[in-house]
Amino acid sequence: MTERLIVFDTTLRDGEQSPGATMTEDEKIEVARQLVKLGVDVIEAGFPAASPGDLAAVARIAREVKGVVVCGLARANDADIDAAWEALRFAESPRIHTFIATSPIHMEYKLRKTPDEVVELAYAAVARARRYVSDVEFSAEDATRSDPDFLCRIFATAIQAGATTINIPDTVGYATPEEFAQLVRFIIEHTPGIERVVVSAHCHNDLGLATANTLAAVQAGARQVEVTINGIGERAGNTALEEVVMALHTRRDYYGGILPRIVTEQLVPTSKLVQRITGIHVQPNKAIVGANAFAHEAGIHQDGMLKHRATYEIMTPQSVGWEASRLVLGKHSGRAGFTARLRELGYGDLPRERVEELYQRFIALCDRKKTVTDADLIAIVEEQLSQVPERYQLLGWRAHSGSDGRAEAWVKLKVDGQEREASATGNGQIDALFKAIDRLVGHQCELEAFHIEAVTPGEDAQGEVSVRLRCGEAVYNGRGVATDIIEAGIKAYLMALNRSALVTTEVRR
Ligand SMILES: [Zn+2]
Repeated sequence: MTERLIVFDTTLRDGEQSPGATMTEDEKIEVARQLVKLGVDVIEAGFPAASPGDLAAVARIAREVKGVVVCGLARANDADIDAAWEALRFAESPRIHTFIATSPIHMEYKLRKTPDEVVELAYAAVARARRYVSDVEFSAEDATRSDPDFLCRIFATAIQAGATTINIPDTVGYATPEEFAQLVRFIIEHTPGIERVVVSAHCHNDLGLATANTLAAVQAGARQVEVTINGIGERAGNTALEEVVMALHTRRDYYGGILPRIVTEQLVPTSKLVQRITGIHVQPNKAIVGANAFAHEAGIHQDGMLKHRATYEIMTPQSVGWEASRLVLGKHSGRAGFTARLRELGYGDLPRERVEELYQRFIALCDRKKTVTDADLIAIVEEQLSQVPERYQLLGWRAHSGSDGRAEAWVKLKVDGQEREASATGNGQIDALFKAIDRLVGHQCELEAFHIEAVTPGEDAQGEVSVRLRCGEAVYNGRGVATDIIEAGIKAYLMALNRSALVTTEVRR
């Protein structure tokens, strides 16, 4: 007997709120489509009252993305709920998610309202949302620091007003697993009408306990989990979707067969998409989706693995979407072998010109690198997929530096179709090169992050650089892949600048 668990993904709302994770409307659509492929039940698409840009993005997801519940967040006031409805009116299955803070500290200092007034606002908000949609979620913000009796009272009121899901958020990431389970149980036992609604958990990872707390809530009776891809979110982030899903699958014996409808083979592709779009990379040892999550290096492990996989592997890499094998490609593979491999890696829909471009890059890579692995292929495909029209195009570069730390660099770019070159000195080669580029481009951005990673192990590995530029309020990510790490850096920097040139006209919040 299996019981269904509703997966509520808030990558596009709580996740997108985290520093540097801002996405364009097109990027949000791309993520939403992938979330449908992954099989999530609910997509929280944004906070329509936050800005006109947010409202437009939620409205577009509601219109274009089908086969999933699309949810919009609203504070417990008329204007927010009306904005949510305006954004959601064309959704196949719309949900309004309204919330109000219930902890003494939030009610007193943030809302400046008495508990009675807060209960009244909750009733009014849910009732108003129910006039627009039949699917209404109510959250008690900062629930884990609220009085449990008060929580039962406000939840019972929300249910009376027509709420269909009751969410218990650990907004500040303060709870511990047993304590959170106890709270969920207490609410289920003491809230009139609770048997008619779905109980939901929303956890934050400030103490590294988000996944543990969420699973504890499921054991205590919660049947919806609010999660994000890679656990992105404000501060230390939200509960990671992939961790909760794989814990429930792998430990079915323990969790009594409470299963989400997730297509687990889509976990890694979804994780990679979100990393590419946000520029927020997971650490190599990240559970399920980290580069080392399935790497066995210690000799004793390898010996055991060769004898029998189950000795050290509790789930297979294939089951979460890592490539089936580390098949190695070479020049001899030819176009046919190359395109077959792309298909196997999930890139079967690429247009022919793109495949041809990638094939030429693959051939060039074979000249520089002994063996080309799946990871190498994925890196060049992902880099190509994130390319934007090139206002600034790299034609050539040179840089040298010495032990005194001073470096000199020369760079040649095509800017708006014209060839231009510049030189600069700096503190290291990257600094000198970026200064030379700045002379040609003349932007107002600040380099906020610079991240280097080896795509594959070995001396001839490809390096991948990702950068994040802040231009006023807006943030632009870029990535570059090359066997030369300095060249990867230049490519990443130019991609971010090309993105900023592309979206300067777009409304951003
Ligand atoms: Zn949250």
